Parts: sequence; structure tokens; C-alpha cells
Amino acid sequence: MKINKNYLNLNDSYLFSEIAQKVRDNSARNPEKDIIRLGIGDVTRPLVPAVINAMQKAVLEMSASDTFRGYGEEQGYAFLRHAIRGHYEKKGVTLNDSEIFVSDGAKSDLGNILDIFSADNTVLIPNPVYPVYVDTNIMSGRNIVYMNGNAGNNFLPLPDKNVNVKNINVDIIYLCSPNNPTGAVYNKDQLRLWVNYALENDAIILFDAAYEAFIQDTTLPASIYQIDGAKKCAIEFCSFSKTAGFTGTRCGYTVIPHELVKDRTSLNKLWLRRQTTKFNGVSYIVQRGAEAVFSGEGMTQIKKDIEYYLSNAGIIADALGSLGIWFTGGQNSPYIWLKCPKNMPSWDFFDYLLEKANVVGTPGEGFGANGAGFFRLSAFGSRENVITAMERFSRVVRELL
Ligand code: PLP
Repeated sequence: MKINKNYLNLNDSYLFSEIAQKVRDNSARNPEKDIIRLGIGDVTRPLVPAVINAMQKAVLEMSASDTFRGYGEEQGYAFLRHAIRGHYEKKGVTLNDSEIFVSDGAKSDLGNILDIFSADNTVLIPNPVYPVYVDTNIMSGRNIVYMNGNAGNNFLPLPDKNVNVKNINVDIIYLCSPNNPTGAVYNKDQLRLWVNYALENDAIILFDAAYEAFIQDTTLPASIYQIDGAKKCAIEFCSFSKTAGFTGTRCGYTVIPHELVKDRTSLNKLWLRRQTTKFNGVSYIVQRGAEAVFSGEGMTQIKKDIEYYLSNAGIIADALGSLGIWFTGGQNSPYIWLKCPKNMPSWDFFDYLLEKANVVGTPGEGFGANGAGFFRLSAFGSRENVITAMERFSRVVRELL
């Protein structure tokens, strides 16, 4: 009996446990302290009434034999795929319902999609990055090449002189926009460079659009399929988690266009085969809730929550601006990625902020080596907490400067 030894190559993920431990130690020493967490990437606003009503109605349907539902379609109920198609239509993207796959969230699909690709492929992953891309490829033993995000390219690496992709045969490219952790968003010209690069090099882009709902500037792409040619080279992953507060309810979707053919094989067909074998679908009740997100009422309600988080982001960005601190994100994203003041290492800044201001953020190193010296703040907290946290932040950073 042999295990998958690739798992032994994974780094233990200490980041969030180390943060939690430091916060616990600090609270134990100073029990009266009021600690505010701006580190978490989880939402705090409850599900909107349109979603709750739809799910309550679905629960009642499940209680009567003539409306009860057993196993659903593995690809997702037609009513939800149809609603998702309508959402894309509004962005100018025409899809067929059979190009949409409903799942229990983007994280599962981002990991599972690797099932349909050869383990020989070379993957290109930005650094810093959402750690799931790296770990899932380590688990399957793929060769990983990193592309550097840094202040010089505003944490938006491109297939140009900043990224040494010219001499490497890249097969799979990960892009995340709006980005976690940096909050940076590719514009259409930048995304076009990646689409053209993928088409020229017979590579595939795995495009993570989990934060697309935060895009307010309509000139920015909210789907990679807004770029010509993307249907021939990209898979898009999306989620109701941050769009509509489904982090605990669980629902997402992945788009694989029929035009996407690699190795003379339709990737849509391969994924359908994979999902029908290994996945039995998302609960009917949750899918009815997700459908309600796209109703007129649902959209109005979730937009209010997104505006709420974006106003929080604006408060954080204003405070950083007044302090003269370099940052990205915060405009079309719930994350703000800042340069630690006085070139402090990010764990030192974490300790300083926790000790002096009772505010918790996330040290950039947790997202890759290029995160060293940077720090992530999240706008998912309550307004009151964000205001207080940034008052304290400004005070202690001024002392430092
Ligand atoms: N992609 C990115 C970039 C994320 O930050 C997250 C969650 O934080 C996910 C995907 C996972 O989303 P889901 O809750 O749909 O699994």
C-alpha cells in the first residue's frame, strides 16, 4: 500500500492557525482588550430576504410528496443554469445552459478540475495567490512555475518582460480577478494579452471570478468571456459565496464553453463525465436560494450588501491614502493589499498592529513569498468595526512614522 507522496510536499498551512493562536495569546494576557478582526475573508452580512423566502418555499415543497425532489441533475437544475445564463447575458456573454455546471462552491471545482488534465502539464501561478491553486497542483505532482506579482506591476502580472513565460512551455494558467489577496483587477487590454498568449501557446486559462460582483467600473471585465477568443481557451469559476453571502450555504458554478477543445477533446464533455461520476449535485433548497439571487428583488438586495462592503473598503482606502501608504484594491474588490509601513516585515507589522491597536490583519507571506512586506485587510466586517479599526490603525501607524 502506497500513499500519494505528493501530499508530503505540501507546506503545513500555519497561516490562519498561527494568527488565531497569536490573537488567543494576546487576549489571554489582556482579557479586557477589544480586538477587531479585519483579517478574515468570510462575509458577515446575513442572506438577503429574497434568498431566505425562496429557500423556505423550497423546504415546504420538500415536505409534500407531489413536490418532493430526490436526486437532481448533476449539472444543476435547469432553472438555476438558466438564471446564470441570464446573468451572463447582461454582461454581453452568450452561453448555452449546457456550458454551465452548478457545484457546491468554487473551491471544490478549482481543485477537482485538475482531474481532467494530465499530471504532466506545467502550470503557471501568480505569486502572491489564493493558496488553493498551488496546493491542489502539488497534490497531483504538477510542475509549477510562478509569475511575480509586485508593486512594479501593481500585482497584475502579464505575459511580458515581467513574467518569464517565453522559454517555458506553459499548459495551464491561473488568473484571479478581482484578486484575492491583492484586490487588483485586470482591465480588458491586460486580460486580452493573457487570452492571446493562451491561444498562441495552446494553453488553458483557469479564470477565478469569485469576486466579480464587486466590480463597479463597467469598463473592467467581470467575465473572461468578455474578451474575444476566451471561449476557446478559458474555464471560468464563480461563486455565490461573496456575491450573496453563501459561504456557509454553499453554491457556485463553472463555465466550460463547447468551443473549448484541447487535445482534440471537448473539455465540457470530459467535465460532464467527471461530474456525473463523482458528484451528485447541490441541494434543491440551496439551488432555489441561488436562483433567487438573480431575481430583480434578489439583485437589488445583494447589491446593497456589496455596496456596504465596498463602503467599508473605501473607509480603509481613505485611511491608507491619508497616511501615504501604498496599496492596491479596495475599489472593485473587498480586499486591500498594503505595503507595510517603514518596510516592516509583515509578521512584525501584524504583531505591532495587534499589540498597539488591537486590530488583526493577514500577513502577506501567507499568500506566497512575494507577499513578504505586504498585508491584507478585508472589508467584510461591520461598518462600526471598520471605522474604529481604521482610527486605531491610523493612530498607531502615525506613531510608527
Ligand atoms: N476563489 C477565491 C479567490 C477565493 O478567495 C475563495 C474563497 O475565499 C474561493 C474561490 C472559494 O469560494 P467558495 O466559497 O465558492 O468555495
